[in-house]
Amino acid sequence: MSRVINYHCKSCDFYFSNHNYRFCFDDKMDCIEEYMPLFTSSDYGEDSLIRGRIIEKYCQSCDKTVRIYRFSPDSSIYTTDATIDFLKYYIPKKHDFFLEVIDFHKELIDMVNENRSLDEIGNFIRENDVYNLYELNFNHYLNNKKTGFNSSQLIRDIEFYLKHIENNMNKFDEFIICINSSEDNVNYNLDGEMFDENICPLCGEEFYKISLKEPCPKCGKNTMERSREMMD
Ligand SMILES: [Zn+2]
Ligand SMILES: [Zn+2]
Repeated sequence: MSRVINYHCKSCDFYFSNHNYRFCFDDKMDCIEEYMPLFTSSDYGEDSLIRGRIIEKYCQSCDKTVRIYRFSPDSSIYTTDATIDFLKYYIPKKHDFFLEVIDFHKELIDMVNENRSLDEIGNFIRENDVYNLYELNFNHYLNNKKTGFNSSQLIRDIEFYLKHIENNMNKFDEFIICINSSEDNVNYNLDGEMFDENICPLCGEEFYKISLKEPCPKCGKNTMERSREMMD
């Protein structure tokens, strides 16, 4: 079971979500993965050499979300310093990964438009499995009589996924990223500089505590509302 808490200001439409994302690495340790812990996948990421939680804070003066990748000594096989070095290197690569995922989906659209053979398209999907984030299953679009496939539906779906991926990438670009070890109360930015864990590494202001007891950080009115979403 996973929960998301959404805050929304009725006056100015300010919006902030609190997720409980986790992160881990894929089998080859070459890509950081982010996911929500669900019942069905509660041991997901157990084998990862480094794993942890993602904590999201809000900085009022930067008007940005600060994402803190937090690990504890027992969730990494490496020393604290080595883990921080690892994360400093791999978290920015996530952006490149999104770009590659976008290329994959665009190329797929081109292949379908060019009427490439089904074998060719199927092979392309298999070979690029790592970029197939939405587990696009080609067979799903083949019709029963095997006389062809529903290419317009396939393209519609891919375009829908593309929008999501681009959205995620834009959001990721807007984050201020930090790394934190549960042993000490400092955050490291991606250049390895240390900051008190309660302040924004970009401007030095304290994080704004978003709650119903506080006014909206944008317009200052007491018109915040909260909703919960449960996912399983
Ligand atoms: Zn700031
Ligand atoms: Zn507001």
